Amino acid sequence: PELILSGIQPTGSPHIGNFLGVLSKWVSLQQTAHDSVTLLYPIVDLHALTIPRDPEQLKKSKIETAIVLLACGIDPARSLIFEQSRIPAHTELAWFFNCITPMGWLSRMTQWKSKLKLKTNSQFSEHDVLSASGLCLGLFSYPVLQAADILLYKATHVPIGEDQVQHLELTRDIAEMFNKMFRQNVFPLPLPITTSAKRIMSLYDPSKKMSKSDPENTRINMSDPPEIIAEKIKKSTSDSLKYITYDPETRPAIANLVTIYAAVQGITIDQVVVEHGKSNIKTFKDAVTQVLVEKLSPIQEEIQRLRLEQGYVQQVLKNGAEKASIIAENNLDEIRRVVGLK
Ligand code: ATP
Ligand code: MG
Repeated sequence: PELILSGIQPTGSPHIGNFLGVLSKWVSLQQTAHDSVTLLYPIVDLHALTIPRDPEQLKKSKIETAIVLLACGIDPARSLIFEQSRIPAHTELAWFFNCITPMGWLSRMTQWKSKLKLKTNSQFSEHDVLSASGLCLGLFSYPVLQAADILLYKATHVPIGEDQVQHLELTRDIAEMFNKMFRQNVFPLPLPITTSAKRIMSLYDPSKKMSKSDPENTRINMSDPPEIIAEKIKKSTSDSLKYITYDPETRPAIANLVTIYAAVQGITIDQVVVEHGKSNIKTFKDAVTQVLVEKLSPIQEEIQRLRLEQGYVQQVLKNGAEKASIIAENNLDEIRRVVGLK
């Protein structure tokens, strides 16, 4: 890798799906990536606008997201964390990409398709639905902005959860098309980095991934106190079998708990099944709660401390944006020349 970039939306408080899926990787890359590799972790606030949000809540979520990143171990001396909207080059590059990306590529995105399907009632045509549903252009085209976030810095590697794999493929397609169109090798084609916990599922509906934008009780937030964690795990979906197996097809909820346990402990799925195969579900749920509480408690101490240091957190974001914008402006200057604006 030469430049690693990965974003998080300030759409709520980060949860263990974000943490086990990507944030833990962001942290470990600080040790494992060579010193020459630049690490960029933007808080992508422009993406959070694709669904209407309370402005005050958005501001709070941004700070809280930055706090959680720092508490998880992001070191501002090694990695840049910053607010996407502080660097206007993201939106300018997104416009260039908007002008070359076929709409068909975007309408194939499964996230868009599922949002459209949620709103579609068989009585109405797709045209009627699109007019009246509140589905907006930004929600349709946000994968283009995401491509701009990544390519603006000429990122070579992008740590992501499985839900973002298709969007990263789109990013590669856009990069390739741009390079071909202008007959210059401007952008590298970025590769994904995933972890063993690439898809942590909702605690109540194991057919859906755990998400910030879902109801509170479907996920475990990084800042949830032990009694809340215990309660959420206890109430999470179960079945009536009296032992533990890993079978995502027939026992998706239990498989999800096994995945969480393995990821938190840094062991394999097989090891969990060997260790806990004979446990009943209640005992296993208690064990999952225990390892989660142990893992999160030092992070939560840091979260508490940083909540009282908002000035420091703001300063970290400001420094991050200043440094990232040097790379961004430099690359954008080249891109403006390539497209003929300069
Ligand atoms: P939202 O519901 O607002 O989209 P989110 O929980 O999906 O929030 P994002 O900010 O969209 O979080 O994603 C940040 C990163 O976390 C992405 O790389 C995404 O792939 C990853 N991620 C999100 N949810 C999960 C999950 N359940 N398991 C593993 N990785 C996840
Ligand atoms: Mg998401």
